[in-house]
Amino acid sequence: MDHFLYRDGVLHAEDVAITDIAAKVGTPFYVYSTATLTRHFQVFDDALKGMDHLICYAMKANSNIAVLKTLGDLGAGMDVVSGGEYMRAKAAGVPGDRIVFSGVGKTADEMKLALTGGIRQFNVESEPELDCLNEVAVSLGLVAPITVRVNPDVDAKTHAKIATGKSENKFGIPIRQARDVYAKAAKMDGIEIVGIDVHIGSQLTDLEPFRQAYLKVRDLTETLRADGHNIRRLDLGGGLGIPYERSNSVPPLPVDYGHVIRETVGDLGCEIEIEPGRLLAGNAGLLVSSVIYNKNGEGRDFLIIDAAMNDLIRPAMYEAYHDIIPVIEPNAATETNPIDIVGPVCETGDTFAKQREMPSVRDGEMVAFRSAGAYGAVMSSEYNTRPMIPEVLVKADQFAVIRARPSFEEMIKRDTVPEWV
Ligand SMILES: *Cc1c(COP(=O)(O)O)cnc(C)c1O
Repeated sequence: MDHFLYRDGVLHAEDVAITDIAAKVGTPFYVYSTATLTRHFQVFDDALKGMDHLICYAMKANSNIAVLKTLGDLGAGMDVVSGGEYMRAKAAGVPGDRIVFSGVGKTADEMKLALTGGIRQFNVESEPELDCLNEVAVSLGLVAPITVRVNPDVDAKTHAKIATGKSENKFGIPIRQARDVYAKAAKMDGIEIVGIDVHIGSQLTDLEPFRQAYLKVRDLTETLRADGHNIRRLDLGGGLGIPYERSNSVPPLPVDYGHVIRETVGDLGCEIEIEPGRLLAGNAGLLVSSVIYNKNGEGRDFLIIDAAMNDLIRPAMYEAYHDIIPVIEPNAATETNPIDIVGPVCETGDTFAKQREMPSVRDGEMVAFRSAGAYGAVMSSEYNTRPMIPEVLVKADQFAVIRARPSFEEMIKRDTVPEWV
C-alpha cells in the first residue's frame, strides 16, 4: 500500500496535490512519501518482531539524505556500497555502529574512511579483500569487524542482471570455501569475525530461494561454531520484490518473509540483519512527467513525454514495467487505447512502455510512473545534457524540494577547458 491516491479527481501524494508540486517545481520530478517510507519500515520491523534485529536500508536504492534521515530516525541502519554512500549515511546522522559496508570492490581508502569513522561490520567478498582490510586495520591500530559474504549457489529466479547468488555471479565467496576463509580470518590481528552474510539478488518474487539460502547459512553457522568461531550475527541481505504491475502477481509479504527467517535461522541465537532497499523505497515514490506531444504514427501512436531514459533507466536496462497513470483522474467510462510512451532522447531504447492501454492524456497534461522510488533518481544521468530532475519529499500536507534541478549554467560550468585547447 502507498499514499498516492486520487482525491477530488487529482492524484495526490499524501495530502498534497501533484498539480501543486508541478506548479512549484516544474516537470519532470520525483516525489516521495514519508508516510509510505515509514509504513514499509514498520512492516519489516513487525515481521522480525521477537528476534534481535537491525534493518539496514540498502541505500543504493535511493540515497537522498532526506530519505536516509527519515529512515535513520526510525531506527534503521544503512547498508552502504561505497565511500560516498558511507559519507551520505553519516551526513544523514546515522551512527557508524549502524552502518554495514557491502560490495565486491572496496578500496583501501574506503576501508580507511569507514574504520576511522566507525562501522558496524564489513561484509567481505573475497580473500584479497580480507588481506587488504587486515592490512589497513593493522596500519591504523584498529580491528575490523567482519562477516564473510557467502555465495550459496541458489537460483534467485529473478532478472539476470540483478541475480547475485549463483556461483557464476561475481559476488561472495563460494560457500564450500567459507570454512577455510574463516580459519584464515581468525588468525588475523586486524580482523574480528562477527557473523555471516548472504544476499542472493533483487526483486525476488518467491520465498523458496531465500529459504534455501538461509538453510545453507544455518548449516554453515553450526559448522563454523564447531570450528570455534563466534558467529553471533547473520546478515541475510535484501532482495524482497515489490509489485510493479498492480493487476498482476503479488510478491510475498514481509510478514511471510519474516516467517522464513524465523523458521530457518531464528533459533540460532544470532542477531539478524536484513538489507532491504527496493521494498522500503520503491513504492514510496512517483516520477511525474508532462506530455510534450501526442504523435500519431502509421498504425502506432506515441505519447512523447518530458521524462526520458536518463531520468528512469529501469525500463531500458531491465525491461522493467511501471504502471503509468494520468495525474488527472480519468472518468471511469473513458476508453483506453494502446500507445507507446517514450522520452525525447535520441535512442529507440528511450521507450518506457509499448502498446500500453491508456486513457487519452492531452499535450501539456501529466502522467505519473508508480513504483519509481527505488533505483530511479539514483541511476539517473545528464545524458543529452538533460538536467537531473528534482526530488521532492512530502509529509502530510507539507512538501519540500530535497534536491533541486540544476540550471544549465551549473551543469556547464562543471567542465573546464585547459588553456592549451
Ligand atoms: C542491492 C543490494 C541490496 C538491496 O536489494 P533490494 O532488492 O533493493 O532489496 C541489499 N544488499 C546488497 C549487498 C545489495 O547489493
